[in-house]
Amino acid sequence: EKTQGAIAHEEKILVSVRLRPLNAKELARNDASDWECINDNTIIFRNSLPERSMFPTAYTFDRVFRYDCSTKHVYEEGAKEVALSVVSGINSSIFAYGQTSSGKTYTMSGITDFTVADIYDYIQRHEERAFVLKFAAMEIYNEAVRDLLSADNTPLRLLDDPERGTIVEKLTEETLRDWSHLQELLSTCEAQRQIGETSLNETSSRSHQILRLTIESSAREFLGKDNSSTLAASVNFVDLAGSERASQALSAGTRLKEGCHINRSLLTLGTVIRKLSKGRNGHIPYRDSKLTRILQSSLGGNARTAIICTMNPARSHVEQSRNTLLFASCAK
Ligand code: ADP
Ligand code: MG
Repeated sequence: EKTQGAIAHEEKILVSVRLRPLNAKELARNDASDWECINDNTIIFRNSLPERSMFPTAYTFDRVFRYDCSTKHVYEEGAKEVALSVVSGINSSIFAYGQTSSGKTYTMSGITDFTVADIYDYIQRHEERAFVLKFAAMEIYNEAVRDLLSADNTPLRLLDDPERGTIVEKLTEETLRDWSHLQELLSTCEAQRQIGETSLNETSSRSHQILRLTIESSAREFLGKDNSSTLAASVNFVDLAGSERASQALSAGTRLKEGCHINRSLLTLGTVIRKLSKGRNGHIPYRDSKLTRILQSSLGGNARTAIICTMNPARSHVEQSRNTLLFASCAK
């Protein structure tokens, strides 16, 4: 029985790659793209530059999305199933990984909106259950966690709860009234993020943003009674720091130490995801970073995970794009 359950829940991480279009600036300087999605699963490097001949030329993932794919399509194929497992009481995480300016925020904000719209649609079609939606938002910068729904910039502590796992102490959690309430909260997050950036003299490329939507539901016929039909789960939308932070640190051969130039959370996430994707039962180093501690209950175990790796298509960014594909290859 035990074994059956373990097999039933053993899900691969859903890994996809999204190319964005070349932008006006890149076109103006005659940058070109050597990347091409030749079908739904394979992206190839058209080996036009002789010095690049050492590169593997084809990479296969669960899905690859051409430069002209809509975010709706990326959501449908690369995130929807994982995100909506939350209505069945299964935790999940959706990540956007990629270098700065590759399209992480663009992709993730669309996916967040589509998910919430589908959740509201689901709620309307399931009147037999009563649902409560809660929203929280945080940012991790240099291993300090800040509440994006609060004007107080004091870093939040992580606590270990024997039943609920890692908890972010004093994190604001708002009960969602409706769609427009969510849009309000999202603009509060955006404003908080910008205030943080200005005071730290930094850009969002170094911080991780986690938007967490929690759904609780119970069958109406049992409401108010000792209710064993209650389901609760969270879906996390994670807009990661620019991946150039991790590869710079690694390629420089720098020792791992604290410091804003090395992103501990990003490196640890890479290790955790690599180990999970290998299906190893051994030690998974969730506790090595704030990001992986916060997301532990939504990574591995019964939880579902999708990673969308965004790529700058420009020839001038080919090294970073290749690093992104290597990360994506390790995750599948
Ligand atoms: P990141 O969050 O990775 O730094 P952004 O999401 O901010 O990157 O994207 C950088 C710029 O490119 C933004 O102006 C964004 O609107 C644009 N962009 C990103 N992806 C796409 C896309 N698939 N189609 C059109 N524009 C895009
Ligand atoms: Mg961004």
